Amino acid sequence: MQLQQIDFVNPLHGEGYSKYGVYCQPYGGEIIRQLVRQIDPSIKFRILDETRGDKIDFEGDVMFGTAYTYPVKRLYRIARAYRSRGKPVVLGGIHVSMIAGYPELAAEEYKNADAIVVGEGESVVADLIADLKAGRLKPVYQGHPVESDFPVLCEEPLRPGWQFPVQFLRGCPWGCEFCCVPGMFGSRYRQRPIEFILQEIEHYHDVRGPTNTMVSLDDDLNDPKTVYPVLEAIRANLGEVQGGWNSATDMNLVVNFKGRVNHKFLRLASDTNCYSLYFGFENVHSRVLTGELGVKKNTPKYYPKLAKACHDYGIMAWGSTILSPQSATWEDVEFMVDWYNAAEIDVMGWSILTPLPGTPLFDKMYREGIVYSGDDRSQATKVAWLDLDWSKYDVLHTVWLPEGAQYEPEEYEEMREWAMHNYETGLTKSALLAAYNLIRGRTRWAMRHGVRAFMGLKHRGVLPEKLVERAFFGKRVRHELD
Ligand code: SF4
Repeated sequence: MQLQQIDFVNPLHGEGYSKYGVYCQPYGGEIIRQLVRQIDPSIKFRILDETRGDKIDFEGDVMFGTAYTYPVKRLYRIARAYRSRGKPVVLGGIHVSMIAGYPELAAEEYKNADAIVVGEGESVVADLIADLKAGRLKPVYQGHPVESDFPVLCEEPLRPGWQFPVQFLRGCPWGCEFCCVPGMFGSRYRQRPIEFILQEIEHYHDVRGPTNTMVSLDDDLNDPKTVYPVLEAIRANLGEVQGGWNSATDMNLVVNFKGRVNHKFLRLASDTNCYSLYFGFENVHSRVLTGELGVKKNTPKYYPKLAKACHDYGIMAWGSTILSPQSATWEDVEFMVDWYNAAEIDVMGWSILTPLPGTPLFDKMYREGIVYSGDDRSQATKVAWLDLDWSKYDVLHTVWLPEGAQYEPEEYEEMREWAMHNYETGLTKSALLAAYNLIRGRTRWAMRHGVRAFMGLKHRGVLPEKLVERAFFGKRVRHELD
């Protein structure tokens, strides 16, 4: 076939994770763009990102697409629309890769594409391009872990307030029960070359506007062996990250298992202009952490110490908590809201335990019909109901119940909403502190208090949800496809 243009599609989703953050460019699409350019510079590569309002116009000769689990049904709809116009479709990414582990589910879902890429796609892009040109696509391309060999210089324009993504590493050895990072990227850390990270940040400095910040992708700051060289290199070569940066982080990097504050890490983070660290606290009860969630690395008694240590360096402590239908009760949610507020965690995201395909949690529920319970994981509870409607896998909906669950699915959703709305006190104080620090030129401190006030107002519904989404995500239109 004549391969002149590739459309890389990022489908529109519902509210889902977007409730927790702001827009970040599709990093995977940028990687594939650069690989395609290395292979054949004459091929035009467009990223069509519905989440920022791009219209799917079917101009490309072929569609590439990826999605998380909850928007994947929309991705499949778009794929069918391309195919109905005689254009081949290649799908990959996290959901499509993870569903390969469940052949009976995959058989149905893979009917939406001409070819599927399973695993990390970089290793198969050259084969894909050659096969597309020759008109002999294979049904499945098995990707394998690759070592990064070029800097990813994102080309999509940055609008005000958007975050610029940089990836420090891939993989994670922790194996939390609900997480698909080890399943997708492996269970060892693979550090990307520091010179590429520096080039990416320099590129971000060149293209950024006054309100853009940098985000390092999920759980990038987990590896204690590599985090110091990366941050030291940023400090030595660039001074700081302009506009500020944030990242998901292992809490042990801030306060270790023995309760010691890691001033070296916090000093480096602060020196390089980190304004926020995101911690997967997941729960305050050890029995829920180790039993139901399989989280082995968190020590709840140190969460307050962690928040104070971050604040001492002008860094916001952003956390997340999971409500499990096995153990969540109204009393416990009220208790946790008070507990985190007392610990002065600046912003808290609340989610419902969701068994994403490819996670140990989903494997147990789907294959064995059980989920762990009890402190030592020696016991199991039967799963009474598991909904396979992926559009509900956005952590805002209840998609499963254990036998003997105390509430109906909707009530866990109400609990989550209630926690979201009732978390965060001292909003006026935060807003005043933001203004005071801004006047004094302490922008990182201002950012910390400003984001806290902003998120609090947003979660309480004082700032209309639609307005906030419009400001950060652009106009979100579900374009008709037919
Ligand atoms: S939640 Fe974070 S620490 Fe746990 S396995 Fe996933 S990436 Fe690793």
